[in-house]
Amino acid sequence: MPLSSREIRSAFLRFFEERGHRVVASGSLVPEGDPTLLFTNAGMVPFKRVFTGEETRDYKRAASSQKCMRVSGKHNDLENVGRTARHHTFFEMLGNFSFGDYFKPEAIAWAWELLTQQFAIPAERLAVTVFREDDEAERIWRDEVGVPANRITRMGEADNFWAMGDTGPCGPCSEIYYDWGKQPNCAKADCDPSCECGRWLEIWNLVFMQWSRDASGTLTPLPRPSIDTGMGLERISAVLQDVYWNYETDIFRGILARAQELSGVRLGADPMKDVSLRVVADHARAVAFLIADGVLPSNEGRGYVLRRILRRAARHGVLLGIERPFLYEVADAVIDEMRDAYPELVPRRDYVTSRVRREEERFLETLSKGLGLLEEEVRKAKAAQLPMLPGDVVFRLYDTFGFPVDLTEDILAGHQLGFDSPGFDAAMNEQRERARAAWKGSGQEAVGPLYSQLASDFESAFLGYHGLRADSHVLALVAKSGAVQSARAGDAIEVVVEQTPFYAESGGQVGDRGVIETPTGRIDVEDTQRPAGALVVHRGKVVSGEIHVDQTAQLVVDATLRGGSVRHHSGTHLLHSALREVLGPNATQRGSLVTPARLRFDFSHDAPVTRIELDQIEDLVNGWIEANAPAVVEEMSHRDAIAAGALAMFGEKYGDRVRVLSFGDFSKELCGGTHARATGDIGLLKVVGETGVASGVRRIEALTGPDALQRWRVQERALERTAELLRTPVGDLEARVEKLLEERKSLEAELALLRSAQRSAASGDLASQVEMVGDVPVLLAKIDSASGDDLRAMVDTLRARLQSGVVLLAAATDDRVTLALGVTPDLTSRFKAGDLIREAAAAVGGKGGGRSDFAQAGGRDPSKIDEAFAIVRARIQGVS
Ligand SMILES: [Zn+2]
Ligand SMILES: [Zn+2]
Repeated sequence: MPLSSREIRSAFLRFFEERGHRVVASGSLVPEGDPTLLFTNAGMVPFKRVFTGEETRDYKRAASSQKCMRVSGKHNDLENVGRTARHHTFFEMLGNFSFGDYFKPEAIAWAWELLTQQFAIPAERLAVTVFREDDEAERIWRDEVGVPANRITRMGEADNFWAMGDTGPCGPCSEIYYDWGKQPNCAKADCDPSCECGRWLEIWNLVFMQWSRDASGTLTPLPRPSIDTGMGLERISAVLQDVYWNYETDIFRGILARAQELSGVRLGADPMKDVSLRVVADHARAVAFLIADGVLPSNEGRGYVLRRILRRAARHGVLLGIERPFLYEVADAVIDEMRDAYPELVPRRDYVTSRVRREEERFLETLSKGLGLLEEEVRKAKAAQLPMLPGDVVFRLYDTFGFPVDLTEDILAGHQLGFDSPGFDAAMNEQRERARAAWKGSGQEAVGPLYSQLASDFESAFLGYHGLRADSHVLALVAKSGAVQSARAGDAIEVVVEQTPFYAESGGQVGDRGVIETPTGRIDVEDTQRPAGALVVHRGKVVSGEIHVDQTAQLVVDATLRGGSVRHHSGTHLLHSALREVLGPNATQRGSLVTPARLRFDFSHDAPVTRIELDQIEDLVNGWIEANAPAVVEEMSHRDAIAAGALAMFGEKYGDRVRVLSFGDFSKELCGGTHARATGDIGLLKVVGETGVASGVRRIEALTGPDALQRWRVQERALERTAELLRTPVGDLEARVEKLLEERKSLEAELALLRSAQRSAASGDLASQVEMVGDVPVLLAKIDSASGDDLRAMVDTLRARLQSGVVLLAAATDDRVTLALGVTPDLTSRFKAGDLIREAAAAVGGKGGGRSDFAQAGGRDPSKIDEAFAIVRARIQGVS
């Protein structure tokens, strides 16, 4: 009975655990803190910083079974998967590691011991390679392990030298090969692991990190060399289960069985369908693990790789005759198969399968349309005898229908057609340029095209009806300049996540505020908006660390602010019902604003709402609050909702399915907002303002719960302070103020009397300044500042006293002159007051006019008053 892959994995880990290794759980497929790498592609990736010395652990030896993805950036890379024995996207790498601890002798001896003793592979079925210059490794294999010299091959740098990067740790490798036996297609007498005939299967690579390479290429020996090894679980399983194809191991058995069951296609019946079944099996593994590690389908980066793989699998499902979402069920089988080794898959099962299903549905929707277009283009290309499809057509399929390029290529291959790859790249670049141009300049509107792109890639599920916290993933970051991969402390940023408890502003309710935290940074969210479709953006600022796309994130809504919005929103619904009950059904909603601190409701009504009506409205609402009626939420069709009497905002767009919120039998509205669990949560509702905002539209402002209480307190304080100032109890305030007003009235009357007495005294003095101009008594006088009314009263008094004559008074302040001129009735036939004052006013830089017996004027130049007097004097002289 051969070992199962589970047994192989655990035997490997146990073997090294017994030799002092810490068994370390697999790291994520998304490399943490390594933006240079799309996916974890080897067992050593999670230990990179330990090897370079930037990080230390409390162990020096480790062993792991690491999830890995290898998909190169080139679009034709997936082609081989499913068609060959050993090409995979997702695989597991078994590895043992020494961080400056043991070195070559132990690494080599243990590898040999595990394979030949634990796994009982006959030594004669194994061969090894060493680096051309690595005499030490060759000597260990030959003299210490006892591998015959003819089973040791020296290889060059391309095969047997490893480096972490252009600089840093590097060193020779030694590879262990399994010998499947002489292949009929190979005639070489000296067939060894360097031969490509298929006889030799590389199962284990031992890397000896012994140097550090600097920028000039110089190698310096590391004081404490390290070991990094990697053995593909799929390969060693094939060897131990004695099957040539990895797909025939037990790793794929359950997954392929599910794929066969769903498609009704048996393996072995049709070689082309076998390819499709294997593609589905391989891709389902990649898809399940990628989504479980937080990657979601999109048109960029990791998300695009996932989308390509997922859609390619869906397309092969179609080739198998399955024309409905099915891959999510295969992914479910993957979780069943892998749950023991990767228990983190289990709690994410529903998440993974629902995301796979959603993407499959989206793809199937566009597939038929896209296929129609593609078939048409293929027909045209064939008619024109083109060897390939134009690149811009392939781009259109990619851009409009979400056809990953390798999918199109796959389909074209069936028609013996290629495609114009440079043409595709050109079309792609052109679009990028357009997008970049659109983002130039700044301001939100420039990000508009990006929002619609994001909205087609992502819809953020709203979890905030039931909780204020959620774990999610950062799908995209939007800065003023456009989409970015990361943001640092101080940056203003918009965050798009997979699912969110934050309510995005709509239906009058403002967006939630709160905090988003990732493992490396924190964002204060100041607003939440829905700029396009179902896309939700969290606007805020990175306040510490930095954040990256694809990170996990914890979202926490500010509970106090949300609580306020909830109270005011539910209060708005009750107010709406009460208004209709008190004012009649014509009091319909015209607008509404719900914030954490207050509510505002605009409605149709022709007259101001009276105090009595407002009291009735408040009483009704607060009665309903006291009844503590629970909120009941139902989903139904828009038509059913309206038939059930639900209130809807006129002119508002609603989808086919609507959310109907009811409280008791008194409130039923179409509403997507967040609400109190029961009316009692509102606490209290108090109207604080009633005004008109337009003809036939009134506005009520109101507060609920603690905000109403707070308002009450503020007013109470004001009242108390007033009472203090007036030195009277609050209860007597009204009488006290009435009395004060009374007193003020009599004081004003007294003051008026005094003023008039003062005026007549002043007029008496002035009367002595009368001069005769010709036969006319004339009084020209400057007085201190006085109001226009005072001046007029004085002119009247003086005119009466003179009985016959002309009076001109000029009151000056710093930069203004006020003139008042009166003519007694007996003289108005000779001098018109209006005429005289016009000329006088001109002298002081102003204008004026009036009747024939009295006129007033203003001017700007007090220094010219004497000139004005002279003009009037001359004028009277001239006439008399
Ligand atoms: Zn050969
Ligand atoms: Zn509402």
